[in-house]
Amino acid sequence: MIAERAQKEWLIWHYTNEERGQWKKCNRCGEIKLAHNMFFSKNNTSKDGWYSICKDCRNKKTKEKKMLAKGEVK
Ligand SMILES: [Zn+2]
Repeated sequence: MIAERAQKEWLIWHYTNEERGQWKKCNRCGEIKLAHNMFFSKNNTSKDGWYSICKDCRNKKTKEKKMLAKGEVK
């Protein structure tokens, strides 16, 4: 969605230029992303309150699991 993309870009701009946000490296893809619920999911059991992998990777992981379950991936 275009609106969502624009919102993400604004967030990145905002936290880079106006407010020093908390940035976090994803343990899976290695990309540094903003620690924000747009990019990471909250995790109450982790130290910093976020999952160690980004939402994109979490989504991919879920998809892979589903495909594995269906036997599409070996
Ligand atoms: Zn990632």
